[in-house]
Amino acid sequence: MNHVGIGYDVHALVAGRKLVLGGVELPHPKGLDGHSDADALMHAICDAVLGALGESDIGHFFPNTDPRWKGAPSRVFLEEAARQVTLRGGRLINVDATVVAQQPKIAPHLAAMKQNIATALGLEPRRVGIKATTNEHMGFIGREEGIAALAVASVELPE
Ligand code: MG
Repeated sequence: MNHVGIGYDVHALVAGRKLVLGGVELPHPKGLDGHSDADALMHAICDAVLGALGESDIGHFFPNTDPRWKGAPSRVFLEEAARQVTLRGGRLINVDATVVAQQPKIAPHLAAMKQNIATALGLEPRRVGIKATTNEHMGFIGREEGIAALAVASVELPE
């Protein structure tokens, strides 16, 4: 049976933090605020994979009150989501995601992000889609107060 899941995440852009998206550190005067590395793209994909399993979200598996995940690279969250698929006797088919960011330009980093996400999930890079769009200067994303990401995942499960 094919199952699909959806994921969404958003983090605030603040001074004094690194900007990490898809496991890539992007040169930018601000970074995403959060308990882990605040990689909104990886978090959205993680929730999409967990959602396809009917599981609880990333916060259930990795509470932001747990000091183990402070500053953690979000790669470990994706690795755990992929492990959950395997535990259920399933197989990840593909993931697809969109980053919504006014600044900086994401496009030059898409290939590296795709490779990082594919590696963490044990997928071939061609099974990982990542796009980026601005928010046309509207709303909190348009004002560069935060960056959001949306994702879907498809998982084949025994039932
Ligand atoms: Mg998050």
